[in-house]
Amino acid sequence: MSKPVVAIVGRPNVGKSTIFNRIVGERQAIVEDVPGVTRDRIYSKAEWLNREFYIIDTGGIEIGNEPLLEQMREQAQIAIDEADVIMFLTNGRDGVTGADEEVASMLHRSKKPIVLGVNKIDNVEMKDNIYEFYALGTGEVFGISGAHGLGLGDLLDEVVHHFPDDEEEGYEEDTIRMAVIGRPNVGKSSLVNAVLGEERVIVSDIPGTTRDAVDTVFEKDGQEYVIIDTAGMRKKGKVYETTEKYSVLRALKAMERTDVVLMVINGEEGIREQDKRIAGYAHEAGRALIIVVNKWDVVEKDDRTMAQFTEKIRDEFQFLSYAPVLYLSATTKHRLQHLLPAVKQAADNHNLRVPTNVLNDVVMDAVVMNPTPTENNRRLRINYATQVAVAPPAIVLFVNDPELLHFSYRRYLENKLREAFHFEGTPLKIIPRQKN
Ligand code: GDP
Ligand code: GDP
Repeated sequence: MSKPVVAIVGRPNVGKSTIFNRIVGERQAIVEDVPGVTRDRIYSKAEWLNREFYIIDTGGIEIGNEPLLEQMREQAQIAIDEADVIMFLTNGRDGVTGADEEVASMLHRSKKPIVLGVNKIDNVEMKDNIYEFYALGTGEVFGISGAHGLGLGDLLDEVVHHFPDDEEEGYEEDTIRMAVIGRPNVGKSSLVNAVLGEERVIVSDIPGTTRDAVDTVFEKDGQEYVIIDTAGMRKKGKVYETTEKYSVLRALKAMERTDVVLMVINGEEGIREQDKRIAGYAHEAGRALIIVVNKWDVVEKDDRTMAQFTEKIRDEFQFLSYAPVLYLSATTKHRLQHLLPAVKQAADNHNLRVPTNVLNDVVMDAVVMNPTPTENNRRLRINYATQVAVAPPAIVLFVNDPELLHFSYRRYLENKLREAFHFEGTPLKIIPRQKN
């Protein structure tokens, strides 16, 4: 099931990024604690009234060297193409400008729900400034102040009110869903075509519920798979289509409804900053993950090249240590046969359930081999471990004090669990909980 997408649009300086940060709030800070996760400050998960959604500040998606007005049009177009609800922001101190009118008329043509926020209404006296914005024809107008956090609740109530109803995806429970993500031109579509060229396709080209990806159902050795091609429905002729920051949005939406993420890297170009961003979001999504180094056919190599590239990947994506790395060529199909077995394996591991007694044996053995840390003469005591979820597997440790479980010991335990069980390809959550 996909989370709804809310896109913020508006002229420069009306306060888009201020509002974005307000809405995202402390969540951002928590997420940034994962060492090595690189992120743009324009995409985030957010929550209001217990509804989770994605929020994008389209102002952060720069499109080539286009002049400002053209950038704004493209950003509004992204919102129209991708968002479930558009949050249109204006500046209550400037009044209605020509650029506001232009954006409004573009948005109207789209028929997407629009919620208009008039920002910089910092006090009650300024409230009257909002009335002229009714002329933009978007219905109710919300006076807000990003700087002071005023009026945002009402604005968000209205946004959530327009969310589409949850839709079931409709695939069988045991169908493995995989999404192919990555920067433009790394070979996502080529990879999808290569896989489908080899297998028995059952249903092809189902437009995804989000209408910006193409789903194809196929079968291999009695297992049904769905492959989600995030590059499969390129908006032809759209300038923004090839911008890297836009590819993140595609990836985010596709990852929501998959079991296994195939993150494609261009072996010819190596790892780029934007790959790291996409990897950060993939990690956060908690899906099983495989790193696919494509275009391996054009890489000049000797018997050490692969090991060196893997070392670089491990170094750059330290938080993805659980992800297997596959080298292949979508063009020549060399080593392509390793892909689906790896996907199947990762999906199985993602759903792995470890019996409680075996889990506790492993944890207790780990503690014997490497005693728990102490702080101010207090030692971490682990009383009991139990798996509380799959996809990804989550293990609760009942301890005397969660604060005492530091990063390094947590990592040690994770390594021990990974040695003992088959968790390759899946993230693993370790959650300390107080219980004496
Ligand atoms: P963006 O270009 O639309 O993303 O706008 P920013 O969020 O960067 O804000 C532009 C400027 O307006 C910054 O100097 C902000 O501090 C200021 N600003 C944002 N929201 C408010 C507000 O509610 N009241 C006032 N007075 N200033 C604001
Ligand atoms: P996407 O934007 O990520 O979907 O990338 P495409 O699948 O459209 O591929 C971009 C370009 O890379 C095209 O010209 C492909 O022919 C080329 N390409 C894709 N995979 C390979 C590969 O394995 N080897 C080589 N040499 N070229 C490839």
